[in-house]
Amino acid sequence: MDKQNLVVVAGAGGFIGGSLVSSLRARGYERIRAVDLKPFDEWYQNFNDVENLCLDLNLKENCERVADGAADIYNLAANMGGMGFIENNKALCMLSVLINTHLLQAAVKSEVKRFFYASSACVYNGDKQKAFEPPSLKEEDAYPALAEDGYGWEKLFSERMCRHFHEDFGLYTRVARFHNVYGPWGTWDGGREKAPAAICRKVIEAKVSGQHEIEIWGSGDQTRSFMFIDDCIKGIDLIMNSEILEPINLGSSEAVTVNELVDLVEEIAGIKLRRRYDLGAPKGVNGRNSDNTRIRKYLNWEPNTPLRVGLEKTYRWIYDQYVARERCLAGLARNAAVE
Ligand code: NAD
Repeated sequence: MDKQNLVVVAGAGGFIGGSLVSSLRARGYERIRAVDLKPFDEWYQNFNDVENLCLDLNLKENCERVADGAADIYNLAANMGGMGFIENNKALCMLSVLINTHLLQAAVKSEVKRFFYASSACVYNGDKQKAFEPPSLKEEDAYPALAEDGYGWEKLFSERMCRHFHEDFGLYTRVARFHNVYGPWGTWDGGREKAPAAICRKVIEAKVSGQHEIEIWGSGDQTRSFMFIDDCIKGIDLIMNSEILEPINLGSSEAVTVNELVDLVEEIAGIKLRRRYDLGAPKGVNGRNSDNTRIRKYLNWEPNTPLRVGLEKTYRWIYDQYVARERCLAGLARNAAVE
């Protein structure tokens, strides 16, 4: 890939998109177009030396504008969040189908060379994820289709759009199924955060407040694997440059229960908390892990950052964000009291 070609990152104001822009810059890409719906000052990472556009990619004309002149498009834009968000916003999640559909059409029109789509482990058949013992999901386990309602169906449909745009229009498409990505610069508060960030924040809140208790969604026996952001960015690059035509898992295969995840964060924080289980809260499927046979076969690599190592970096980053926010709120309260 010529580093002077124009690369588009859709969803660049978000967690993974922001990290991808950061990595492309570091790797010497000179023409990056970063696009997101959010106002620029709300992007998790922003860089003034790239072309930044605040546009709604649900709209076809905006997709045509961003695809114009592009060689590569990475589509990481979606209306999404952790289980709390996707279980309660199914229509909004499904509407992200407009982003990928319009971007694919615009890519064909502008003769874009390569297109990457960020899919999800939520495409997998729910019946295969009923046991707490984590089944390692192989790519073929997405069928017969019984995806996560709302969000997962949108991802599965969009995967197939990529496939058919390749077959019918010759567009070079690559699709990765991400399994729970975590790390610094991710959402850690506000309702869209995922389990690792939510647990780090809750442990920090308990530590700072002195109220040594934590609420856990579900029984804590649910199993998942979590992929550190650096592995995700490396995997995106390898998959985009590979010959892999079919959707492929991009996830860690180090499965833990939610209780074990809490144990790890407590250990990092140097604290032990009383656990309160909210059995009515959104908790997703009982067990899920990434089967990495295919990625190892094609790329001779798989995400390999140990959870403990990635969590430590994530915890420290969220701690700094938390402390900075508390200081800011305290300053505002002081100013209000003086007025
Ligand atoms: P994120 O929410 O941090 O980023 C997504 C970005 O897309 C947001 O900044 C949002 O403003 C933007 N966006 C939403 N609607 C838009 C629109 N209409 N036009 C333009 N921008 C719009 O999420 P993320 O964690 O960075 O996820 C990136 C991609 O990876 C998404 O497609 C997501 O579904 C997928 N994914 C993420 C995970 C994970 O664990 N983070 C797991 C599986 C799949």
